[in-house]
Amino acid sequence: MSLTTNETIEKIKAHNVIDGHIHLQHWFDENGKNFIDGVEWYKDFFGMRSISLAAMPCAYRDVTQNFMCLLYKLAAPNTYVHAGITYQSYPVDVNNVGDMDPLTQYNELMEIGADGIKMLEGKPSVYRYVKVPLCDPFYDPFFSQAEKDGTNILMHACDPDGFWDRSKVSEEEVKKGWFYGDGTTCTKEEMQCQVYKMLEKHPSLNLTLAHFFFLSDTPEILEELFDKYKKLNIDITPGGEMYKSFNKRFDYFKEFFTKYADRILYGTDGCYPPGRDAMIWLTDRIYRYIATSEESDAWSDKPLKGICLPSDCVDKIFSQNFLNKVGSKPKEINKKALKAYYEKYKHLIRDKENYDLVEELIKKML
Ligand SMILES: [Zn+2]
Repeated sequence: MSLTTNETIEKIKAHNVIDGHIHLQHWFDENGKNFIDGVEWYKDFFGMRSISLAAMPCAYRDVTQNFMCLLYKLAAPNTYVHAGITYQSYPVDVNNVGDMDPLTQYNELMEIGADGIKMLEGKPSVYRYVKVPLCDPFYDPFFSQAEKDGTNILMHACDPDGFWDRSKVSEEEVKKGWFYGDGTTCTKEEMQCQVYKMLEKHPSLNLTLAHFFFLSDTPEILEELFDKYKKLNIDITPGGEMYKSFNKRFDYFKEFFTKYADRILYGTDGCYPPGRDAMIWLTDRIYRYIATSEESDAWSDKPLKGICLPSDCVDKIFSQNFLNKVGSKPKEINKKALKAYYEKYKHLIRDKENYDLVEELIKKML
């Protein structure tokens, strides 16, 4: 099957889609063109209403990710950004963060014009070196404030079950540090438990758990969580394993997606650049699964059959839920606040090339 078809592109355009979960990896693509061109091209390709960038400073152990996303938003104001918390040292010494505690950083990022906060601290490969449980009192003042403000937190916690099993994890994944069965990081149950304890303390948090919270084999747990926490959402960015599980229980998931259409958000988890073809393919296949009864070649050894939700549910998942939970329009960048953030955090840009680039852009754009 091709990446997509004109017919599907036209259907997707009709829904004013927001891709709520995109990452930036490099400033320039393989042709030396600025990443902004490529991502805006992708957005226009599907006539998207907007996109949302998720910054991951803790994954790169470098604050550059926040500058990449916030400067993108400054250049292309119709962009949402989930910015991230950054840390001076890894593992994080919670008693020694000075004026860089999570609440202070949250307030700074909100003032700059971030639309939400991205957290990757609960991905076991990142938790391995951050080493602060999500339910630790260290994060409490920040979560409490975000809960009070209704700010959306996009959180990646846990990972697919296979990452704990040496026979199921690929060499490429091992190289990325995604094998967890060697005792160097948490178990899946430990990380789930951290999230549950955090939610008990912050039951009204506007939280989006990415990748179905890796519960596609046990979605009944998610149903319980949805009942208990009324502001909890999930996104359906692949993990292909998720869609394999969906395919095994067609009727159950058709009902699930209909019943919880208010709680489910679309995103590709596309990493740009490269990734443009991948993002087109992902949007096409997720759309086919949710909005059509077609069979596609995605993620499964057998064809993935679409659950063909009613049009109003499709609208919610691909656009309306994001507007309701993150914001009806992207916030504006406050240049003065961004400049102050730059001065305070530039010493945490650890790579010389990034340092020079950020400095140049800050001078040019602010
Ligand atoms: Zn992601």
